[in-house]
Amino acid sequence: MANLAVTVPSSLEAAARDFSKQHKTSLDDLVSAALNEYLHASPRRLYQISTSTALVEGVYSGSVSSSVLLGHGDFGLGTFEGLDGEMIILDGEIYQAAGIVRRRSDDFLVPFASITHFHEDAVVQIEKVASLKDIELACDPHRVSENLFYALRVDGVFDTLHARAVHPVAKGSRLLDAAKAQQEFHFDNVEGTLVGLWSPRYSSSFSVPGYHFHFISKDRTKGGHALDCSARQLRASVQIVSEYDVQLPVAGSFLTTDLDRDPASDLAKAE
Ligand SMILES: [Zn+2]
Repeated sequence: MANLAVTVPSSLEAAARDFSKQHKTSLDDLVSAALNEYLHASPRRLYQISTSTALVEGVYSGSVSSSVLLGHGDFGLGTFEGLDGEMIILDGEIYQAAGIVRRRSDDFLVPFASITHFHEDAVVQIEKVASLKDIELACDPHRVSENLFYALRVDGVFDTLHARAVHPVAKGSRLLDAAKAQQEFHFDNVEGTLVGLWSPRYSSSFSVPGYHFHFISKDRTKGGHALDCSARQLRASVQIVSEYDVQLPVAGSFLTTDLDRDPASDLAKAE
């Protein structure tokens, strides 16, 4: 350990002291974490809270604050406590799609989410999209390996967009039962963005294997987990992810839930 004496604006010092009091963390820990994030921030890193298996088994209580989540990126997917809607993180803002869409600028605990600092490794112009599958097929050649993760951003005007949002569920229900109570939406002629991740099959205990897209409209009023879409022309960008950083919950039902079962078949049905 070393001692570091630095001069910073007094407003920053006050903000740091407030933050450390609120989050019950020491100034030393806070400054170390901030420096670590700044110096080692990698555009290829995906930061994730909890695991897909925990979600499948019904661990829906939050474990990491949304402000900490946003410290790790500006682009991602997730859900909310009690499965209260689909999370879309785009351009550094968190949106909650649960029938209506609202921006969440408050600080709250997140049960499951994945986030990265998005940048484009490859750009794909996609024409004549008859289904979500066509977007996947167009992005496939830009995934250099089946063994890395990818973040995918797809922008444009969608002729049709079929989405769903999970309903809040009773404590103890598993993801498969929650998926049965979802709301579905059909949007026509809507401009917006698909926020996507592709995860390798071997990661199924942690992530959702294959493509996973959430949609949000440009005016931020419509959104959800994308089930299908069509469009004439879309612009997709693909980012390679080679660092996978998982924050496991250190309290609550995560510690006592049986997570031994392979979640792959439940994930395929529910996600
Ligand atoms: Zn989803």
